[in-house]
Amino acid sequence: MAKYRIDVATENCSGCSRCELACSYTYTKAFNPSRARIQVKMSGADCSVRFSEECIECGICVDQCLYGALSKTKKQEDQP
Ligand code: SF4
Ligand code: SF4
Repeated sequence: MAKYRIDVATENCSGCSRCELACSYTYTKAFNPSRARIQVKMSGADCSVRFSEECIECGICVDQCLYGALSKTKKQEDQP
């Protein structure tokens, strides 16, 4: 599976949780943001986005962000 470097523009984040829902459903078959490997925390106008150590950099969460808060760049494939 391809791996991606994921960049975050927190100023664009709406707090919609689509990224968390996509990750949790993909890896736990549950729409449960608390089980996602990406965690979005909103505090007033401030936003923080963290990735857990379990994140495998698959980029699925990025594909579900409609607000331009997440972007991805494919990493170089490992050489055999
Ligand atoms: S890159 Fe993949 S594993 Fe990591 S938080 Fe996003 S969906 Fe989850
Ligand atoms: S999908 Fe994008 S806008 Fe929505 S919470 Fe995640 S990073 Fe923020």
